[in-house]
Amino acid sequence: SMTRGFQVQVDQMKWDDVGGLEDVKKRLKQAVEWPLRYKNSFQRLGLKPPRGILLYGPPGCSKTTLVKVIASSANVSFLSINGAQLYSPFVGDSEKVVRTTFQKARASAPAIIFLDETEAIVGKRNMGNGGSSGDSVQERVLSSLLNEMDGVESADSVLVVGATNRPDMLDAALMRPGRFDQALYVPPPDEKARLEILKIHTKHIPLDVDVDLPNIAKRTNYYTGADLQNVCREAAMVALRKLNTAANVLPALHAIMIPENAVLIKQGAEA
Ligand code: ATP
Repeated sequence: SMTRGFQVQVDQMKWDDVGGLEDVKKRLKQAVEWPLRYKNSFQRLGLKPPRGILLYGPPGCSKTTLVKVIASSANVSFLSINGAQLYSPFVGDSEKVVRTTFQKARASAPAIIFLDETEAIVGKRNMGNGGSSGDSVQERVLSSLLNEMDGVESADSVLVVGATNRPDMLDAALMRPGRFDQALYVPPPDEKARLEILKIHTKHIPLDVDVDLPNIAKRTNYYTGADLQNVCREAAMVALRKLNTAANVLPALHAIMIPENAVLIKQGAEA
């Protein structure tokens, strides 16, 4: 699991675990892997690797997953900061968490610092409270973060990746050059991507012969990746329940699913 500000063991995740998003994947690889792999060329050409990348788009479309995949596939350390934990009354010194995380990232570089729900960490200043108090916790966290991001040298190999559903809520100071240099839109899946996602999440579910994944992909417009994962999970659960009530000793089942909760099962194969 993810612990605030501490390096964590990320599950070994692969690019193939994320369906669709070819363009976003390519751009992330370029931003993270190229500066490491072609370090000398970058220096020779005077190219500065990006310091920060913002991923934005609707929830459940694998922003978090992408960052974990890039960290594990490029074999860089992964540290994470999240707003709910940062502002927990039990944590105390929130700015210190930010500083410590950057220290740890430098010490374990190359590293990615992931800001989950960036808007909850550094939303617009003075929101709701009308005045510029100048020293609300949020403001102090924002200035620590800006300080740290500005202080990161290219040679440090520390990349900050933010994820947000609400780019409009972010403080504009974050978008200045040298901070989030790139903003990548992570779109909801189109039909082709939905099919890939369905295949990924049914990889371990035995499917009946007449399960028509392309058809399900066609009929699941507006489903996010998380929604599709839920459909697959639900189908497997319904199949399990039927198995339990029909006969306790069925050796195996095939789960078949379509989005409208209709699930058929079939006996006779290894589950
Ligand atoms: P949030 O903004 O709610 O945190 P997110 O965009 O960060 O959402 P994730 O948490 O990465 O999304 O994705 C939620 C779940 O949905 C993941 O566990 C993942 O398995 C599944 N999922 C989402 N998109 C995809 C995809 N393109 N391919 C495979 N699985 C996906």
